[in-house]
Amino acid sequence: AVLIAAAAGVSIGLFVGYRGGAWDRIVMRCADVLQSIPTLVFAFAIIAVIGRGLTPATLAVAFIFSIAYIRITRGVALRERERLYVDAAKVAGLSTPRIIFSEILPNLSGPLIIETSLLLGSAQLVIAMLSFLGLGLDADAPDWGGMLNEARLYQGIHPLLAVPSGLAITLSVLLFNLLGDSLRDIVAGHQQRPHGTRRTRAQRDRSTAAPPSDPSIALAMHQARVEFPLGPNRSLRILDNVSLTLHKGETFGLVGESGSGKSITALAMLGLAPAPGAITAGSVYVNGRDLLGLPDAELARIRGGDIAMIFQDPMAAFSPVHTIGEQMMRPLRAHRNASKAEARDRAIALLSRVGVVNAARRFDDYPHQLSGGMAQRAMIAMALMCEPKILLADEPTTALDVTVQAQVLDLLAELQAEFGMAMLLVTHDLGVVAETCDRVGVMYAGQIVEIGDAHGVFSAPRHPYTRALMASASTGVRRGARLPTIAGRVPPPWAWPSGCRFHPRCAHAVEACRKGDMALVDGVRCARSDELLETVAS
Ligand code: ADP
Ligand code: MG
Repeated sequence: AVLIAAAAGVSIGLFVGYRGGAWDRIVMRCADVLQSIPTLVFAFAIIAVIGRGLTPATLAVAFIFSIAYIRITRGVALRERERLYVDAAKVAGLSTPRIIFSEILPNLSGPLIIETSLLLGSAQLVIAMLSFLGLGLDADAPDWGGMLNEARLYQGIHPLLAVPSGLAITLSVLLFNLLGDSLRDIVAGHQQRPHGTRRTRAQRDRSTAAPPSDPSIALAMHQARVEFPLGPNRSLRILDNVSLTLHKGETFGLVGESGSGKSITALAMLGLAPAPGAITAGSVYVNGRDLLGLPDAELARIRGGDIAMIFQDPMAAFSPVHTIGEQMMRPLRAHRNASKAEARDRAIALLSRVGVVNAARRFDDYPHQLSGGMAQRAMIAMALMCEPKILLADEPTTALDVTVQAQVLDLLAELQAEFGMAMLLVTHDLGVVAETCDRVGVMYAGQIVEIGDAHGVFSAPRHPYTRALMASASTGVRRGARLPTIAGRVPPPWAWPSGCRFHPRCAHAVEACRKGDMALVDGVRCARSDELLETVAS
């Protein structure tokens, strides 16, 4: 009965969910009506029409249960058909049945497995009840419901006769329900927030670092480590003991190739790690308190209030269903208990401050009504709503076109000076860093390989990686000449070499670079930095 219900229900649900329109409305209204009738009464009605016996009982139960499958399947199909990958499949020329069965159906495996195991229990129960009432299987067919019914006749002589079949029904239904429960846990465990970020204090070594005593420090990250679980006792380290400080009012540039761990560092500063990863060691001090040790409620007060973040893609960071204004007012209302009018005034003032023309009208626009540059400006304005002391900007201009990039960076620099914020600027544009940053950190393979004040690092880079990065920036290259590049690519976290992680790509690597852990000494993680600096100078 359950298999028939699944086959019929899933096919119908996929079809109406994917098609939508009149088909969807008709099928779903019928399903509403049928589902409002109690299961047993509905089964009586069907059996009254098609007669009793094994096949009619099976078909009756299948018919009733198929409605549950239609609902689940339709919901998922309705959601998935809007996704980009479905459009991509259409563009690739896949036929509609192919899209439905090979692209959309796999999304359903989790909910369908759970629903099936639960319905297996229910099916037993319904058929046993029907047989008990004399409406299920034929009287001579052995089944637990029928046995219970017979036991009722001999209650006076053999009062325990009902016990075996009763127990059998109870246990088997219970078993199917337990099976469904565990399947749900397994499936849910697999799909746990695939895109989100989360924060955990699990197994984090309590940091031994004391809060920074220097009052000019706005944020101090000490030996932060982010790891992804791989198995019971194994994990992959993607951020390896990163320490850096942001001083009040300064701009700190974080540079490095894609995949070197810049975004993870910025997220860790907020106590976040992409799921299923976790911050497993280190501390992040802000205002003398270690963020990583704070309960969630207190962290929520700090995020968006004292520390704000600007993301790479403004369109993805705004919710599409609320206006820009509503979303901008939220942090001020939540963190500063501002009235609606106050929040509105500040939002409009900030929107005009960041260069959004006609700010009062734009306030009521939805994100899709803004251009990329405008959305990024609105995003910056939103980050400034609570006058944060620390602003984390993760590649704030990468999604913008070149002309707008320069404007937005100028704007950020102006605002940073105006509000006196400490700013972490993640970028891979070395020109921007040289122009706007006070200090700079160069990341490679989850580690900081060179850190220092921007002028020093750029006039005399000490790590071969920094030199290679600077050489591959386009400035200063003769017109028509090939741009120099760094051969190879950043190794993924599971393939980080021992010794200096840059050694396979480094022209100056010697035997000593391949062994042990390279330490960060005097702001540079290179065993030969002094030696090399002399050869470069000469
Ligand atoms: P970037 O410097 O480009 O911002 P990221 O900080 O995003 O680099 O990523 C650093 C490393 O972490 C990369 O090697 C990436 O493969 C890994 N990583 C990032 N996010 C995840 C994730 N959600 N799951 C697994 N690995 C991830
Ligand atoms: Mg990034």
